[in-house]
Amino acid sequence: MTLAARKIRLLMELRRAGIADTAVLAALERVPRERFVPHAFRDQAYENVALPIGQGQTLSQPEVVAQMTAQLAVDRSMTVLEIGTGSGYQAAILARLARRVYTIERHKPLLDEAQARFAELRLTNVVTRLGDGSRGWPEPQDFPRIVVTCAAALPPEPLLEQLRPGGIMLLPVGETGRQQELVKLQKTETGVRETRLGLVRFVPLVAAPPAVAGGQSA
Ligand code: SAH
Repeated sequence: MTLAARKIRLLMELRRAGIADTAVLAALERVPRERFVPHAFRDQAYENVALPIGQGQTLSQPEVVAQMTAQLAVDRSMTVLEIGTGSGYQAAILARLARRVYTIERHKPLLDEAQARFAELRLTNVVTRLGDGSRGWPEPQDFPRIVVTCAAALPPEPLLEQLRPGGIMLLPVGETGRQQELVKLQKTETGVRETRLGLVRFVPLVAAPPAVAGGQSA
């Protein structure tokens, strides 16, 4: 079966699974997932499975990416902050729907590859940064949407601070190595409203910089 045929099959599967947002489905159709996975996994790019992307990290299964993107409810006026660029796939999907995507990754090799993909696909509205995303974007910001694609025990406080009132933050909350709960936080004038969206499994959010090869840490 060709990749194009597999993609159609996947989109039908996502519809059956309850993904009804046509803008999200159109973004999944347009972004070539095969370019975001290692060559050896290309023929699995349109299976509804998570795939390894190097550095012990994974690209979430398409259904989770679609579900999270739909829950974020982004529009063309919005700048979205993503923590955990990884392959860049989620950022590329968001770049098709939002005005701009700011994305932070702690592993330089992953960020370099993701940046090359954004350039190749002419996604000029993605702004990348190397570092610890749990501290938020280095300059003061007021994001209408924040998505975290790695799991933390609690929502990082600096991210809550950079979420604008009325804004939505989506993140997996829970202990690493186990299933976590996908949580949607809506910031109101007086506090934060929490909605639980079901169990997911993400790689952990790690605040410390990666160890440098050769044993020295940065
Ligand atoms: N959104 C990605 C998913 C990658 S997995 C994609 O579409 O491919 C989650 C990523 O979060 C990993 O690449 C991991 O290195 C990164 N990560 C973990 N802790 C982080 C932190 N504190 N700051 C930035 N990135 C982090």
